[in-house]
Amino acid sequence: MITQCLNWDRWVGGYKWRSYRDGIRRLVPLDSASGTAETQPQIGLFRRFASLDVADDEHAMKAILPFAGEYGDILAVPTASDALAGPQYLRYNRKHAPLEVWTDEIRRMARAVKLWERCRYFLPRRERERQDAREELRSAVIDAWAYSTYSDEASTIKVEPLLSSDPTAANLLVRPINLLSAMWLNFSRVASGEIRERHCEAAKRGYQGRDGQWCLSFVYVGSGPEDDLKNARVRTCSPACKKWLERVERQSRK
Ligand SMILES: [Zn+2]
Repeated sequence: MITQCLNWDRWVGGYKWRSYRDGIRRLVPLDSASGTAETQPQIGLFRRFASLDVADDEHAMKAILPFAGEYGDILAVPTASDALAGPQYLRYNRKHAPLEVWTDEIRRMARAVKLWERCRYFLPRRERERQDAREELRSAVIDAWAYSTYSDEASTIKVEPLLSSDPTAANLLVRPINLLSAMWLNFSRVASGEIRERHCEAAKRGYQGRDGQWCLSFVYVGSGPEDDLKNARVRTCSPACKKWLERVERQSRK
């Protein structure tokens, strides 16, 4: 079995956009004194990434900031500390993604997710369309792993093998080299069927969380070390949804 691992650093104080002399806009820390923290991307994060509004630069800059504040840059880890400058670290120490790369990558993921939606539902008279969507999705996934959206370079979406320091460990670890790769790896696992994606039962029955409670809308079923991989009995995406669903079901039995 292959196990993936990624802990990704982000600036705790959040980010702001800065325009460089060459006209490129990149995220920089809002307050680097606040330091960095590790975050683990959820399986379904690719959906949230794909849904960011990038209709134009204004919208994109506004939508990307809170996402980056929560999960970090898609390509680079924070680079404040000299203590982090080992050879292993420097390989990941890339420049933060320019706005253009963010928007291109969000559009690419949005397109792939849309194709995935078209592949999921079986309608006999639409079977031909579904097969076409499946073919397109296959190409989209292969292209993402092979080609960059923004230059002739190779894709920045990659995983690296990592041997466990524990000699008795039976799993091969793979590490996505950045957050963008982690989202593509999880999307690829979902689209290949390794992880099953189901609608949250509470979301299906009309649950809307109060402020700050966000229904992820999906439950990810599969095996792996990730906290948000559930077993097949789990019907809801979060404790809040579970509580709500149980209450609704209790009331309907009365
Ligand atoms: Zn839910």
